[in-house]
Amino acid sequence: MLAESGRRIRVVTRDPPLATTSCAAGALWGPYLFSDERVPGWSEVTRQELTDLAKQGEHTGVRVLLGLEAARVQVPVPAWAQHLAGYRRATGPELPAGFRLGWWYHAPLVDMPAYLGYLVERLRWSRVQVELIGVPSLDRALELAPIAVNCTGLGAAALTGDRSVQPVRGQLVVVRNPGIDWFFAEHDESPAPTYFLPHGDRLVLGGSIEADRHDLRPDRDIATAILERCATIAPELRHAEVIEDRVGLRPHRPTVRLEYERVDRGHVIHNYGHGGAGVTVSWGCARDVMRLVHQVDNQT
Ligand SMILES: Cc1cc2nc3c(=O)[nH]c(=O)nc-3n(C[C@H](O)[C@H](O)[C@H](O)COP(=O)(O)OP(=O)(O)OC[C@H]3O[C@@H](n4cnc5c(N)ncnc54)[C@H](O)[C@@H]3O)c2cc1C
Repeated sequence: MLAESGRRIRVVTRDPPLATTSCAAGALWGPYLFSDERVPGWSEVTRQELTDLAKQGEHTGVRVLLGLEAARVQVPVPAWAQHLAGYRRATGPELPAGFRLGWWYHAPLVDMPAYLGYLVERLRWSRVQVELIGVPSLDRALELAPIAVNCTGLGAAALTGDRSVQPVRGQLVVVRNPGIDWFFAEHDESPAPTYFLPHGDRLVLGGSIEADRHDLRPDRDIATAILERCATIAPELRHAEVIEDRVGLRPHRPTVRLEYERVDRGHVIHNYGHGGAGVTVSWGCARDVMRLVHQVDNQT
């Protein structure tokens, strides 16, 4: 957004885009796991932006898809879901075994490797290259530019000393898609939520939420359990060919840190700590970063 507003910017990253947490995400739009009052606004801005990208074509990596969200216990249907296109309560026969209620809706679904490639390409249209540079400190970042926008996810812990950013591990299994063209998502907060998300000829199966584990090695037992849980919902997955195991560490923080900080050497705008919903709030957060950059302009 900054580049497209005509500003001179540099994008530096320690890891290439395909080696980030973002690349590991499923990634379904849905404002979960957040008790931050800014989330509904950020999510809605992002939903509209992703919906526009879906209309532009497959090269963006974004599609809007119909899917079923279901809960094993009686819960209120989230208000945000009830406003989405295609919303309706699931009928009894539509519910998988073990689920008490469910609801259908259309939501953006993002094929992250494709989407990240699209974003890199879109930066190139603004004549910005992604530079592979690890930044050891915010001071070093401010030697590169007078305003640093700190979107370092989990890396923010080392960069800012913020100990409230913690990794929450997530594991997924990618299989050859046997022909499923709808998504399934278990509602909220189970440590082993079951979901499958179709991306063309691949299907991303989830998942896991592990707070005290930091390794990126795929865990066989977790992968087997994911496959089994998904196959109870869609039996055609029982013999699906596994293509890839994906593991990522969500940058969890009690609340997202999106704020301005004046430091000796210049201006920092922090934008990190998006936990398990960073894709869902991304464009909304970016818009707020833009607003803060304009405020710095007006000060100086
Ligand atoms: C298994 C899994 C499933 C998920 N599913 C979903 C989903 O369905 N929907 C959803 O909305 N979200 C989902 N998420 C969450 C989402 O992936 C994250 O919230 C989001 O990717 C965080 O993005 P980020 O840019 O803050 O962090 P990252 O993607 O980690 O990017 C941080 C960037 O900062 C760079 N960096 C860090 N430190 C430095 C440094 N010192 N110098 C230079 N560069 C640095 C890194 O190299 C990287 O480029 C999921 C996450 C996981 C793990």
